[in-house]
Amino acid sequence: MTSGAAAQVAEAVRRATRLTVLTGAGVSAASGIPTFRGAGGLWKKVRAETLASAEGFENDPKLVWEWYDWRRGMIRDAQPNRAHTVLARWTQERPGTTVITQNVDGLHERAGTNPITRLHGSIWHVRCWTGCVAGREDWRDDSVPLLTLPPRCPHCGGLVRPGVVWFGESLDPEILQRATDAAARCDVFLAIGTSAVVYPAAGLVPHARRSGATIIEINPEATDASGIAEFVIRQPADEALAAIDALL
Ligand code: NAD
Ligand code: ZN
Repeated sequence: MTSGAAAQVAEAVRRATRLTVLTGAGVSAASGIPTFRGAGGLWKKVRAETLASAEGFENDPKLVWEWYDWRRGMIRDAQPNRAHTVLARWTQERPGTTVITQNVDGLHERAGTNPITRLHGSIWHVRCWTGCVAGREDWRDDSVPLLTLPPRCPHCGGLVRPGVVWFGESLDPEILQRATDAAARCDVFLAIGTSAVVYPAAGLVPHARRSGATIIEINPEATDASGIAEFVIRQPADEALAAIDALL
């Protein structure tokens, strides 16, 4: 990033009355958590898209849970990085700042981000796969490693599933509406560390653009959102956000 780009982005952030931030797996990369698209997207030679799906779970629930158990262990031992801490402080100190995340790792929350909209659920939540009445709603389960693989529903003895939105599944309509409103109402929209190919999350970027927001992208690689971004910072999220924050 040239110092000019950081200064321009800092100016846009400073002036924003409503700043909406969309984050993806890239913000947690500096915490050691692999993204899906890129190195680490394969586990035991299986694609993340196969594991994170109802079909994958139906085929082999134990394998899918082994993968989640491994990720949960990695996430538990990870720490929020500067991208998380800078964004958390912005939400606390800059009224009108909101974060929408596709991440399920909980690192934004651990850094103190508030408000936050979690589009894809939480890796720390589970619910009954069978759909029994008592186990239908998500509950929190922090155990690492899980005692049994695959874990069982305490209510009906059936399988439980991770409380995340899998590929091919719909988002909670209320959560999606909240995110859509935040994209439409902001004057500056920051897309950070997302490949912008997973819908409907990716659609928030053009939605914000159409609603008149200035789009800023922070990502070491070009993405589907790059074309509509006014400013593009090709740097890791932790470095870029620390540099912008220092200029505010
Ligand atoms: P993705 O894996 O599709 O893309 C990651 C993006 O991050 C890429 O564009 C890559 O260039 C960029 N990136 C890599 N290192 C970066 C860095 N240091 N700084 C900034 N950007 C960096 O991830 P996605 O767009 O979030 O979408 C895929 C789905 O994967 C989401 O639904 C999400 O729930 C899930 N996911 C979540 C986590 C997590 O919770 N940490 C991790 C992997 C995948
Ligand atoms: Zn049950």
